[in-house]
Amino acid sequence: MRQRRSKSPLKVGRWLWFVFVLSAVLVLALLWLLVCSESFSGGIDNVVLISIDTCRADYLSCYGHAGRTTPNIDQIAGQGVIFKNVVTAAPMTLPAHCSMLTGTIPPYHGVHDNLDYRLNESEVTLAEILKDHGFVTGGIISASVLSSQFGIGQGFDTFNDRFDGAAADVLMVERKGGQTTRLALDWLGRHKDERFFLFLHYFDPHFDYEPPEPFASEFADNPYAGEIAYTDYCIAPVIQKLKELGLFDSTLIIITGDHGEMLGEHGELTHGYFIYESAIKVPLIFKLPGQNKAKEVEELVGLIDIVPTVCGLLDIAPPPQVQGIDLRPYLFGKSVVSSERHVYTESLIPTKYNANTLLGVVSDKLKYIQTTRPELYDLADDRQESENLISQLPQQARILQDSLRQILEESVPTSGPSSKTLLDEQARKRLESLGYVSGKVAEEFRFDESKKDPKDMIDLHVSVEKVHHLIAQKELAEARELCQEMLLQHRDYYGLYRHLGRICFEEGDKQKAQVYMRQSLKLNPEQPGLHFNLAMLLAEQGRYDDAVEHFKEVLRLNPNQVLAHNKLGSVLYAMGRFDEAVRYWQASLKLKPDQPGIEKNISAALARKQKRSLD
Ligand SMILES: [Zn+2]
Repeated sequence: MRQRRSKSPLKVGRWLWFVFVLSAVLVLALLWLLVCSESFSGGIDNVVLISIDTCRADYLSCYGHAGRTTPNIDQIAGQGVIFKNVVTAAPMTLPAHCSMLTGTIPPYHGVHDNLDYRLNESEVTLAEILKDHGFVTGGIISASVLSSQFGIGQGFDTFNDRFDGAAADVLMVERKGGQTTRLALDWLGRHKDERFFLFLHYFDPHFDYEPPEPFASEFADNPYAGEIAYTDYCIAPVIQKLKELGLFDSTLIIITGDHGEMLGEHGELTHGYFIYESAIKVPLIFKLPGQNKAKEVEELVGLIDIVPTVCGLLDIAPPPQVQGIDLRPYLFGKSVVSSERHVYTESLIPTKYNANTLLGVVSDKLKYIQTTRPELYDLADDRQESENLISQLPQQARILQDSLRQILEESVPTSGPSSKTLLDEQARKRLESLGYVSGKVAEEFRFDESKKDPKDMIDLHVSVEKVHHLIAQKELAEARELCQEMLLQHRDYYGLYRHLGRICFEEGDKQKAQVYMRQSLKLNPEQPGLHFNLAMLLAEQGRYDDAVEHFKEVLRLNPNQVLAHNKLGSVLYAMGRFDEAVRYWQASLKLKPDQPGIEKNISAALARKQKRSLD
């Protein structure tokens, strides 16, 4: 009995050991909780998110660029956490920003390109989340691709997308960093006493590369680097203003970019087409209040991690659909998050040339690209992605391929929780747009390998971009020559006829322009942009009935196009169909509220209608 009552030394030792481990775990858990929630959620009064467009991570000096491109950002990075391995969800401005602000990838939020897409009202942006939690929210953007008509302004109390001096019907307008900064300083001054979220977008590093002096001279041999340096120079006064207002120590500052720039690598000059490293690696720096020591994180993270991290820091539950992860463990601790991270990235631009999509999955060491001839790269040894290892490492490719499939199946809403459930029409269409051929069940989806490989179409893409640029520069003869040269190899590509139409239009030959435009539409009748051009041309010639038909076609293909609503309204007004005109203008205001000119048009139409009824 005695023996039974007293524990053996071995058992006592185990017991003590158990108590010790348990206490240690409890203490660590408590510390973790303190680190993750208590100490910082109270410290952050405001959030400033700065997005630099077309910002290759390796062009910032704090990311290793040899030139002193970003002394001001370096200073912030020197007191913050700098993520060295950050992947964007798409090398395109609108889809990337949708991912940045919703924490979801394009197959989920549905925005795959600029202009013809709009972020759905049902998506939840960081601005909406913070507004719901009492923040006053402001957005200042520097290019019309991020205009509120594309749905990206949801949740912002004020969203400055008005570009002074720009004609309202120009699709691509931008403002210089200096002006964006002036607007930001003004906004900060007005909201300094409130709890705020400011989203600031700079566009200068986007092509053309024309930095102002002294950056033009200093970076004469690399004007793209000059634009990065100029943007850094523009950011400095914003940081200074936060300091002057006494807000620097209570503001979470995040500096990032939407995508990089290829600068000729793999044959691509700018961005949007390929998903190689130079296009998809972006900077990401978190500067927390009270933090003054630099910390570097080498592990792979995604642009989609910003939303859950900000939510975590503010003790807000992120929306359930968020696909990114909370990076707080990296901000405060060590590498505690699983290193087996797979981050998604995509480009659907090659489909414009009847080529396949590019769907990528990046892991710590490897990148898999699903397309007609799939690719696998060892990112540690081959940063240039010059050696495709797909046949040498089939098993690794298979793992990433499975991961991609899983990511897509989780992203595309099906009619049930399991991948075996039936796909509804919408889900089927969405998967088809990603390059899958459909069956009735999600599992029956197979990637379509019958289409051309995007790698074989890069020359056409580059030439088309060049034609586009030449037309913008009014170098029409050269543009025509290039178009005709490309036609010898690509007679079935609708875009070349479209550009020839534009060239004739610019030259004043409207008749010939129409012939080319109709030829282009014959090859691809589903181009909202071309229907728009044709409608404008017909309206100009007074052929209103035909113009109305093509404007309506634009809106059938893209019901969110503000400009088509506005122009259709004008044509109907000219035809004396005032009620219809008012309807289209009102729909336009619903898509983009801040249009004083359209409000005036509505008043004019209503007045004319009343006058007619009196007559
Ligand atoms: Zn961009």
